[in-house]
Amino acid sequence: MKEHSRFTDIIKDRLNSIKVALAILLAAGVVLCVGSLQKKLEDKKNTLSDVNSAINEVAGKISGEYSTSEDMVEAIEQIYDIISEKQNELEELVKTNEQNREILNSQNETITSQNNTIIEYSETIDSQAQAIEQRDEAIDEITRIVGKDIDPIDGDALKSAIQDIEETEKVIVQTYKTPVQMTAYYQQLEETKSELTEMLSFYPDGNPAVGEISYTFGNHYVKKNGKTVTSFHRGLDIYNKNGGAIYATADGTVTEVHLRDDGTGLGYYVRIDHGNGYMTLYGHVKSATVQVGDKVEKGQQIAWMGKTGAATGIHVHYEVYLYGKLQDPINYVDY
Ligand SMILES: [Zn+2]
Repeated sequence: MKEHSRFTDIIKDRLNSIKVALAILLAAGVVLCVGSLQKKLEDKKNTLSDVNSAINEVAGKISGEYSTSEDMVEAIEQIYDIISEKQNELEELVKTNEQNREILNSQNETITSQNNTIIEYSETIDSQAQAIEQRDEAIDEITRIVGKDIDPIDGDALKSAIQDIEETEKVIVQTYKTPVQMTAYYQQLEETKSELTEMLSFYPDGNPAVGEISYTFGNHYVKKNGKTVTSFHRGLDIYNKNGGAIYATADGTVTEVHLRDDGTGLGYYVRIDHGNGYMTLYGHVKSATVQVGDKVEKGQQIAWMGKTGAATGIHVHYEVYLYGKLQDPINYVDY
């Protein structure tokens, strides 16, 4: 019994031992298993944490302001919105720019054509300025003439002054814009012109008769009793075999109608005083058509050509005096 019991005890002990060993083994196994799982979990946790911190690091790098990735995503979305908005604005700007370019092009064309017009205008203005300059010069010239006392005996000066006035009048008509200005200048010039023309009417520049010059003024060499002597001719002879009218060469007053031959060789003659220092004489006349005291005008008939006195043919002997001094009539007539 004791033996049995001892065996049983031994078994029991062994079984207990096994139980303990198993328990220990199991416990060890469980411990082992749990340890492995725990390590795996720890690893995963570490990995996630690494990823998280990496993400956070990246996020932090991308933007220090956003603590979470959601914030960041939102911010990025906002940035995209802004970018898209800006893109739209840019597109609008590009469109506007194109429209502006078209407008600019058309404005450019307008400007070019306006430029051309301006150039044309400036040319016109230049030529007008030139005309005005000419006008002013002419007016200056006329002012000079008007301001100066023109000697009424200087027919050339009178004629030239009248011509200047007429040219000035033309310039004034062409360049003055307002009739008032034009009229004022015009009247002034017309008055002066009429004064000068009046003076000129007393200047003996007419021809005393129709014909041709047959004997000139001054010294001539002539044969006298077989000798050559100088003979002074006091006037200019105008010859016309058919005779004809003798005309006053300027306005004046008839001061002498001498219709008798007193042997001077001059024959019958008519004398006119022109009142400005000039006096003219017409000799060898056949008859007179005026009387002493008559007022005569330039070109008016005063006598008929003849050959009274020492005349070999029908002609008029024409004398011109200035302040009593004989002048060469060739300087006054036009043959
Ligand atoms: Zn003569």
